[in-house]
Amino acid sequence: MKRELTCVACPLGCSITVEYEGTEVISVTGNTCKRGDAYARTEIVNPTRNIASTVKVVGGVHPVVPVKTSAPIPKTMIFDCMKEINAACVNAPVAIGQVIIPNVLGTGVDIVATNID
Ligand code: SF4
Repeated sequence: MKRELTCVACPLGCSITVEYEGTEVISVTGNTCKRGDAYARTEIVNPTRNIASTVKVVGGVHPVVPVKTSAPIPKTMIFDCMKEINAACVNAPVAIGQVIIPNVLGTGVDIVATNID
């Protein structure tokens, strides 16, 4: 099978073609660097995504704090991860880089605060 992808590993957005059978990647073309090759292979075998959202803050100046995943998580877990994030609540003050949800859904990935106004 053949699949056309747009690489999201950097803003250039190279068009990549992946030939594969099942979860076996046969060839990757169109990428202009190794990151594109890695992105394409991961996208076929186990697609992952970073998540950015907000978590409620109690007792702070602002009602929410921006958060993100510390690393990409499997695409299939995005909805469950969002449920965890939406259910979370943190007490002020919150520090940049503070772990808000450790090891979310057993992925080994943390949900961390990204920006404090
Ligand atoms: S293949 Fe490399 S240069 Fe092209 S979009 Fe992906 S990371 Fe950027």
